[in-house]
Amino acid sequence: MTMPLMKPRRKNPVLRTRQMNLPPWARGRTALGMTAAAAEGRFELQVCQRCQAVQYPPRDACHRCLSPQLKWTTQTGAGELLSETVLHHSNDPFYRERLPWRLGLVRLDVGPTVIVHLHGDVPSPSPHSGMPQNALPAAGKPAGTPASANRQPVRVHVGARLDRAGAAVLIGFPPEESEHMADDKMLREMTSDPKFRKILVTDGKTEVGQALVKALVKSGADIVWVGHAEPWKKLGGLEDISALKPVTMVPLDLTNGRSVTELAGEIGGKVDIVINNAEVHRAFGIAARRGTDVAKAEMDINYFGFLRLAQEFGPALKGRSADGVTHAAAWVNLLSIYALSNYPPHGTFSASKAAAHSLAQCLRAEMRPTGIRVINVFPGPIDDEWNQNLPPPKVTPGALASAIVRALKEGIEDVYPGDVAQEWIERWRDNPKVLERELAAGG
Ligand SMILES: [Zn+2]
Repeated sequence: MTMPLMKPRRKNPVLRTRQMNLPPWARGRTALGMTAAAAEGRFELQVCQRCQAVQYPPRDACHRCLSPQLKWTTQTGAGELLSETVLHHSNDPFYRERLPWRLGLVRLDVGPTVIVHLHGDVPSPSPHSGMPQNALPAAGKPAGTPASANRQPVRVHVGARLDRAGAAVLIGFPPEESEHMADDKMLREMTSDPKFRKILVTDGKTEVGQALVKALVKSGADIVWVGHAEPWKKLGGLEDISALKPVTMVPLDLTNGRSVTELAGEIGGKVDIVINNAEVHRAFGIAARRGTDVAKAEMDINYFGFLRLAQEFGPALKGRSADGVTHAAAWVNLLSIYALSNYPPHGTFSASKAAAHSLAQCLRAEMRPTGIRVINVFPGPIDDEWNQNLPPPKVTPGALASAIVRALKEGIEDVYPGDVAQEWIERWRDNPKVLERELAAGG
């Protein structure tokens, strides 16, 4: 069983902060298919469309029949651990700083044998467990002795995760979940678990912000700083969250550069995860309103606010990405599924989220070399005051908050919470032009 992670002691401020050395990240174009699936939380392998062979490692042609018709297909990950190795030495700087490190060889039930990072709760296989029974050395022991009873196969569940360099790696988990599983040392290196981390949520006045704060506190966050643009206003729900022990309300107005700079000066060096959920959302297209005031207000928070925040909080976050078990880990952007294709009744809002999405891709590229994960969240319509006139299904603030916490815990990069977002992303992947036409006609 994984021992629960203890709250780390305060760091000695005189000690130098360790710099990040990323694990090896180079992958060929074909292998990036596995990374693309892992970025959305799925384990996919290529399946040959001609002979149905499942293959690993990824290649351009089927290893059995040479057909180039290979389709990335979601896998269950069920398999058997054949052997394990514990690294006590490595020439790679990333692993050298994190030894010992457990690796395993797993034969998937669908065929291929893969190398995995092994979770601490997976038991070691006995020396011959991977071999078929008739291949065991005839040691002269009758069947049913304790020695042969030990040769039970060790079942594992293989999952794909993104490592600190953002590349897909495979992890061998025990088939059953256990209580402190997420505290495994290797897994903490792959994920951005909120436990014991210090988190900034940029807007606490919305229902989504408040649901997020509650979910983060429940997940064991050490401190949650909650931004509040207008501290003099008494808004519903704020008292509830400010009463939670880890929560500290802080003044933060993303439209005001000085406000962002001041807060970064105060807490920037301590924040491990930034969650930017501040947004302005009005339901207008182009013809429904004269002038640009509303569109500017949307841009000022949704795009420029994000830019101001990234410029002020980004550098300190990057500098602390290898700083112990609670190292700086992630940056979360609340975008919208409308960022992918404009929804005309919410036209200017869609445009501001498309701009923010583009900037988020830039931030991700800039954060990548330091191992900070940028998570983009693309919800469908949220069940809030700006979507009152939209018919269901809508994402509840609570469901959205759970999806964000899950993405942090499982190291997912792109999240599409809710039925509408799931459906739109499928249609967008299928044919963006067709989706544009359908949305122009009302969805
Ligand atoms: Zn084939």
